[in-house]
Amino acid sequence: MSFENQTRDQIQTLLAEQRAHLEDLKGRGLSLDLTRGKPSAEQLDLSMALLDLPGEDYRAADGTDTRNYGGLLGLKELREIFAPILRAPVEQVVAGDNASLAMMHDNLVFALLHGTVDSPRPWGEEETVKFICPVPGYDRHFALTEAYGIEMIPVDLHDDGPDVAAVRELVKDPQVKGMWLVPTHGNPTGVVVSEAVAADLAALETAAPDFRIFWDNAYAVHHLDQEETKSADILGLCAASGHPDRPICFASTSKITFAGSGVCFLASSPANVAWYLKHLGKRTIGPDKVNQLRHARFLRDTEGVHQLMARHREILAPKFAQVISILADRLGGHGVAQWTEPRGGYFVSLDVVDGTASRVIELTRDAGVAMTPAGAAFPHGNDPRNRNIRIAPSYPTRADLEIAIDVLATCVLIAAAEQSLAS
Ligand code: PLP
Repeated sequence: MSFENQTRDQIQTLLAEQRAHLEDLKGRGLSLDLTRGKPSAEQLDLSMALLDLPGEDYRAADGTDTRNYGGLLGLKELREIFAPILRAPVEQVVAGDNASLAMMHDNLVFALLHGTVDSPRPWGEEETVKFICPVPGYDRHFALTEAYGIEMIPVDLHDDGPDVAAVRELVKDPQVKGMWLVPTHGNPTGVVVSEAVAADLAALETAAPDFRIFWDNAYAVHHLDQEETKSADILGLCAASGHPDRPICFASTSKITFAGSGVCFLASSPANVAWYLKHLGKRTIGPDKVNQLRHARFLRDTEGVHQLMARHREILAPKFAQVISILADRLGGHGVAQWTEPRGGYFVSLDVVDGTASRVIELTRDAGVAMTPAGAAFPHGNDPRNRNIRIAPSYPTRADLEIAIDVLATCVLIAAAEQSLAS
């Protein structure tokens, strides 16, 4: 992929034009940030009513005084709202505090320290623990596994989920204890794991008896089009395949209500939920039930969540459309880039000419546009082809986004031309 059918002279001309354009853009003294997938202030404003809730009536439906200690499982009225989204019976759903990432962390650490319900010994007593990491993936998953010395094995993502044939081979190794997966509108690719791929993963024969799928459904209801993609029923599929304890599902309202003050959820088998609560009970006396109650009152029911997400979509969809349209305008036809057109989630994943992603990021930074470092979506930040760039369109205004993507596209062309002329 690079300037097919173009002569050296044509590439030189293009490079000069793009460098001149970048100088023009730089002249505006830019300071733009496309690094993280954060909701914009306009999106956060949709949930301002939360700040006046729960008001004087601080009692939950069952009479619980939410101001006090206790209730490790979380408020039932909130779990009821999210159970259909997690595709789990309400009894198998735990509601927690403001970060599903913390729940993932705890599950990993509890498994390392104590072992899971079906572990022969704590994972930490194994010589080596390995996790399968579909790539490109979520950088914080990889940072977390890296921090606890877990070996990461990258596996390619296809249009319908991870490469199952590769996963099937890898799980023959008893040291492979788990895998990360963002099943719906994956970060950063937007890939949705199909019901068929989920069924294959559920049915896999694994050498480790305690193999876990960390099913991080952070974008379960975050659709960018009217056709609201449903997540695969991993709990049902695993139970039907005789592996009920394999999946641990996570979700949160970080990109539904307030990113820093939302609520998070875990759903799994009855045995895994009991195991999680047993260890969680040593760590906390209970979650922030006042926050849970105000979320339950604000969202009202599952339909209320979907209605709120439709309002997020009205803000987000035009930004994604804008990114894709600028990329198509500026890069289409040159053969120097491919990008995703996600139907949900928070990112556009851009692949540039092999070997040039870090140069592109360096050029954008010099022009005043901060991007996620090249390779961030790979274990240890190492993209073997040095080609993947994650674009996070949610936070900037549309005016800023227009300039930032213009800068990015210009830098993609410059880096590709530089490389092509150097060879
Ligand atoms: N999981 C994925 C895939 C994400 O992209 C993010 C945030 O970007 C998170 C989890 C963080 O979730 P939380 O805010 O609930 O910790």
